[in-house]
Amino acid sequence: MERRNLLDMLPADALAALLEFVERENLPSYRADQILRRLWQSPSPGFDDITDLPMPLRARLSEVFTIPRLDIGACERSVDGTEKFLFTLSDGQAIESVAIPDNGRLTLCISSQAGCALQCSFCATGAMGFQRNLAAWEIAAQVREMLLLDPPIPVSNIVFMGMGEPFMNWPAVSVALTILNDPKGLGIGARHITVSTVGVLPGIVAMSERPEQFRLAISVHAPSDELRRQLMPINIKYPLSDVIAAAKEFDRRVTFEYVMLGGVNDSGEQARQLAALARECHAFVNLIPLHPGGAGNFTPTSGDGIRRFARALRERGVEVAVRKSRGKDIAAACGQLRVERLGRRSPGRADQHGDVQVA
Ligand code: SF4
Repeated sequence: MERRNLLDMLPADALAALLEFVERENLPSYRADQILRRLWQSPSPGFDDITDLPMPLRARLSEVFTIPRLDIGACERSVDGTEKFLFTLSDGQAIESVAIPDNGRLTLCISSQAGCALQCSFCATGAMGFQRNLAAWEIAAQVREMLLLDPPIPVSNIVFMGMGEPFMNWPAVSVALTILNDPKGLGIGARHITVSTVGVLPGIVAMSERPEQFRLAISVHAPSDELRRQLMPINIKYPLSDVIAAAKEFDRRVTFEYVMLGGVNDSGEQARQLAALARECHAFVNLIPLHPGGAGNFTPTSGDGIRRFARALRERGVEVAVRKSRGKDIAAACGQLRVERLGRRSPGRADQHGDVQVA
């Protein structure tokens, strides 16, 4: 009989599977809760390490279930405390997570796909092409692995800003969101979990139907359709005006992400255009300094240029923050470490259609 992966299911389903198991084994039902706690809340590397269970039960669990690990293939630590992890998956694919400490919080930037089909022109992940979707457990286990480190890295915030477009893998991302948020899962508050999208509309609708207060960030990166089409092929399928309309409909405040590309999207006129869009949907704007070593031949906007741009937004009543560029010395831009370690594969054609399975 094939062993069931207890991590690749909702905590409620894992509990049901464990209750069924303990009943079959003529064990008391509290054993099911005891095992469940070691999946996410107080994670155990394997069944053998759950030393408060009798040895025969541990052996029996290993015959029926699995709790797989992600293999840490590489880890780099920046002088600013940012740590980047390259995980090797069982089929040889590699994904990245970045742990960013800031003012007592620890934000983990996680991946939802190995590679990405959308080929935004400034992105190292886009340049490597799409490899595959991650399973729900592979998404949530990026956090679990932080808790299994010695010493553990306690994660307070999650951003889906690693490799991949989360709404192109919504069925798995949706399960992962529950695991991240559920008190019987990782127990991270919904307001501390941000899903970042380039504007895949069916995904925005699907997320707005979830009752939890998960946060939504939209990668805008250009204030006009003409420029956005050049930078982000997905804009052909989902033009900016539709993305803005969806952001207005979303029942929580959204954040616009805007990477600063010198001489491309950082003029005074573009600041005015972006301010108008942000005001339309009461969005908060995050300006992101371009990380050196991404894709394309872009140059970062200067510090003065970013400050001028931010001022122009604020003068128009828009709330704005300039994101610190973290981990400059460790290839911390999305997809960079993987490209460095594994080499660049030639990408397929850009996916301009962005079909998303939301059921
Ligand atoms: S920015 Fe995001 S959506 Fe665009 S290519 Fe990179 S990973 Fe994909």
